[in-house]
Amino acid sequence: MKRESVGLVETQCFSIPEDISLEHGGRLSGVNVAYETYGKLNREKNNAVLICHALSGDAHAAGWHKGEEKPGWWDIIIGPGKALDTERFFVICSNVLGGCKGTTGPSSINPRTGKPYGLDFPVISVRDMVDLQKRLLDHLGVDKLFAVIGGSFGGMQVLQWSVTYPEKVRMAVAIATSAYSSPQQIAFNEVGRKAISSDPDWQNGDYYGRDPPARGLSLARMIGHITYLSDESMHQKFGRRLQDKSDYGFDISNLDFQVESYLRYHGDSFVKRFDANSYLYITKAIDYFDLTRKGALSLAEAFKDAKAKFLIISISSDWLYPPYQSREIADALGANDIDVRHCEIKSNYGHDAFLLESGQMNYTIQNFLSRTSVGDVMIKDVVTIRQGSSVEDAARIMMTAGVTHLPVIDAERRLEGIVTAWDVSKAVALKYNLLEEIMTRNVVVSSQEDPIERAAKLMTEHNISALPVLDAEKKVIGMITSDGVSRLVSVCR
Ligand code: SAM
Repeated sequence: MKRESVGLVETQCFSIPEDISLEHGGRLSGVNVAYETYGKLNREKNNAVLICHALSGDAHAAGWHKGEEKPGWWDIIIGPGKALDTERFFVICSNVLGGCKGTTGPSSINPRTGKPYGLDFPVISVRDMVDLQKRLLDHLGVDKLFAVIGGSFGGMQVLQWSVTYPEKVRMAVAIATSAYSSPQQIAFNEVGRKAISSDPDWQNGDYYGRDPPARGLSLARMIGHITYLSDESMHQKFGRRLQDKSDYGFDISNLDFQVESYLRYHGDSFVKRFDANSYLYITKAIDYFDLTRKGALSLAEAFKDAKAKFLIISISSDWLYPPYQSREIADALGANDIDVRHCEIKSNYGHDAFLLESGQMNYTIQNFLSRTSVGDVMIKDVVTIRQGSSVEDAARIMMTAGVTHLPVIDAERRLEGIVTAWDVSKAVALKYNLLEEIMTRNVVVSSQEDPIERAAKLMTEHNISALPVLDAEKKVIGMITSDGVSRLVSVCR
C-alpha cells in the first residue's frame, strides 16, 4: 500500500477545568493541553494510539500546518499505509506539561500574578506529564489505548504509562530509551542547563518580554545535537569539509568546518522555536525519571504490574541511550513473564535514528502492531441470558443493555446458544415464547488467542456481526463484534 500524508492538520487545545496536583507537591490551575489527532476513533473506541514526543517535540507529529515547509516531526510513520495507519488507528499526540508549544509551561501566564510563571512554575515529573495525557484521553472518550509509543524521553513516558495505568495500555512501544536516566544523560542535560543559566539574558528565568537567553539555549541545543548523532554519521554527513572556503582560516573566532556551521545554524533556529525555561524543566524531569524509585525496587519489580505487550527498540549506534538500556528493560519485563520483543535497529544515525530510519521503523512497528488478537479488543463485560428464559426476557435485556446479540449460557457460564434481535422479531412473528425455540445452537465462536483477522473472516463468511469468545472450558469470557474490528482489520495485510 502506498504511504501517504494525513494532509493539512491543526493543533487543538483542551482546557482542564479543575486544578491539577503534581507528583512533587505543586498545583496548577487553568492548565491547557495542545494536541493533534489523525484518523477516526472507531465505534468501539479501541483503536486509539498515543504518541509521546521527545525533549524538543510538540503536538504536531504528522501532516502539514498551513504555510509551513516541513511536516510534523514523526510524519515518516504516521499516515495512510504507514505503521501508524490513520485508516486504521486514531492517533493522538499532545505537547507535554512544561512545554512551550501550547501546553501549559513556564512561559504560560500564571493566573495568580497575571505574568509568565518563569521559575515560579512548579517542578514537574514524567508521571505528571502522563497524568495530563490521561486527562486528555478521558476528554476524547478513550478509555483504553490500543498502543502508546514514543522514542527517547517519549519512551520514558511510554514506560511510565505501562506502570501507572497498566489496565489502559494494550501495546507499548518504547524506542531508544531507558527506565532511568543514566549519569551520562544527566551530565549532558546539566551542561545544557548550565549553558542557559550562565547566559546573562536568562535573568533567573524572568526574561519574558525581553531578550531571551539565546546564546545559552543555542549552546544547550548544540551540545544536545551532538549526542543525538554518531561518530560515523558525522563522518558521513560532514567529514572534514570546510564551509564556504577552500582552506582553513587560521582565525580563532571564525568558523572553518561544515560541522561547526551546521551546529550553529541548528542551535540558532532552536531558539526561535523553544523556550529556555521549558528546556530546564523538561530536562530536570528527565533526570529525575527512575522507575526503580532511587533503587528501592529492582527493574523487574518496577514492571511487575505492567500488562501491555511490549516492543522495545534500540539503535545500534546510539551512545546517548545505548542498547544495553533497552536490554535491561526487556529483561525486566521478561522476568515478569510479560510479552516483550526487543529489536535492535541497525543504523549509523545514532540516537536520532528513530526519527530518520523510515523503512526499519515502519517495518518493525507495523509488524508488532499487526499482532492484534481477539483478547486485545474483545468486549469483556458481556451481557448474557440464562438458558430457560423467555423471549420476552431476551427482548427486555436487549433493550436495557442496548445490545443486539445475547449469548445463552448455562449455570457454569458455558455457551448453549445465541439469540439476536433478528431472532426475537422472528419469535414475535411466529408467536414463539421460549428462548430454546428461537436460539441458534450451532454458534460460531472465537478464542482470545485468535488473530483478529481470523475473527473478522469468520464473521464475513457467516454473515454475522458478533462472535462469543470462549475459554478452554467453553465459558463465555467476551464478545467480539464487527464494529470492534472493522477499522483495525480493514487494512491489515
Ligand atoms: N445481522 C445478523 C447479525 O448481526 O449477526 C446476521 C443475520 S443472520 C440471518 C441472523 C442469525 O444469525 C440469527 O439466527 C442469529 O441467531 C445467528 N447468529 C448470530 N450470531 C451468531 C454466531 N456467532 N454464530 C452462529 N449464529 C449466529
